[in-house]
Amino acid sequence: MFKIIEYILALFIFLVVNPLVTIYLFLRRLFTGKNIFRKESILLGKDICRVRYFNSDYPILAVQSLYVHVLTGRLSVCGTSLRVKEVNKVASHNGKSGLYSIALLRRISRIDYESYDDMDIEYLANKSFKKDLMILVKAILKLPVIDPDYDKPDKIKLLDIEFLNMRMDEALSRIAEVIDSGRKEIFAFMNPDCFNRLFDDREYFELMKKSNNIFPDGSGVNLACKIIRKQLIHNVNGTDMLPYLCHLAEKKKYRIFLLGAAPGIAEKMKKNLVLKYKGLIISDSEDGYFDRKTETGRVITKINDSHSHILLVAFGVPLQEKWIAEHIDELKINVGIGVGGLFDFYSGNIRRAPKWMREMGIEWMFRLLMEPRRMWKRYIIGNPLFIKRVKNWMKGYNSEN
Ligand code: UDP
Repeated sequence: MFKIIEYILALFIFLVVNPLVTIYLFLRRLFTGKNIFRKESILLGKDICRVRYFNSDYPILAVQSLYVHVLTGRLSVCGTSLRVKEVNKVASHNGKSGLYSIALLRRISRIDYESYDDMDIEYLANKSFKKDLMILVKAILKLPVIDPDYDKPDKIKLLDIEFLNMRMDEALSRIAEVIDSGRKEIFAFMNPDCFNRLFDDREYFELMKKSNNIFPDGSGVNLACKIIRKQLIHNVNGTDMLPYLCHLAEKKKYRIFLLGAAPGIAEKMKKNLVLKYKGLIISDSEDGYFDRKTETGRVITKINDSHSHILLVAFGVPLQEKWIAEHIDELKINVGIGVGGLFDFYSGNIRRAPKWMREMGIEWMFRLLMEPRRMWKRYIIGNPLFIKRVKNWMKGYNSEN
């Protein structure tokens, strides 16, 4: 069935869409001198071949030129990744490469944390008509998303705050390096809402400004990077990081303390995590509603007695960042990380957005639907405000530099 849809679609795109795109790119070439095509190597059937992509900043549009290979049967519409830099080991043994793959969708959303082989194995393990259709729909919805080849600096400055621009595995290596060298450092995640909070909270702004360990969280930051013409490497958010952090902690025997959320939530999360990661040591936990004036000493003693390497603090932004900074000297830990609503997700208290929504970069919509009363201001007002602030900041930044 999908084969027939695939063939009709390929014929339509080849005969109708591609001539129109070519005419548009030809006209663009007349005005800007930009080439119509760019050549890249991909796996076609079992051979690596040089093929012509449309030379476009829209990644979904760029692959439209390859529909000709779908007609000849050497590519699928949906399939394993089109590997350009390395041989696609999985596809060369099993499935056909596809114009659209989960690897491509995740790369556009900056959540391609696993290796391309692993993403292809995941695709092949779950391959079905429905899954392929979902990939196709997601690819169509991603058509308006640009992904230009901007500069990828190690650090990106946004609204006067500098964050780390790295892969998820590099972020984890950075955390491991701090622990292994016996240092003590604070890490933070910043999403558009956090950036908005900088404007009303001087203390939080100063803390973030002097931090060397900020990770970019959310598709809004990815969009902001495009506005300032920088390329974000990965969306390094706490919820996606946790499984990798647990693997790391399991392997290296790092002890994790969970501090925050409502009573009982951290214990539930601990139960879930140790069930999944057999060697993981959650050293202890404490809820986030203790009396800050009278009980902070007791909580710090509890953390220190647990001999933990990593302290996850879930009080919400910016309370957690301020609390860690205020008490870091008294805390016998290596790494303190503010993680917001993380415990609520991993305890099962609040449902996380399904993967397809994360792949589409619309996890925020899910959170809005789940908690409209609390979240409407953050997202409906906050997201456009953030983009406006980034644009204004960029104008000022460009005129200063
Ligand atoms: N929280 C807490 N102590 C407080 C206030 C909040 O432990 O005094 C917890 C709250 O129960 C929730 C988390 O902090 O688990 C904040 O979640 P939210 O989703 O608001 O965090 P964000 O990631 O948006 O900062």
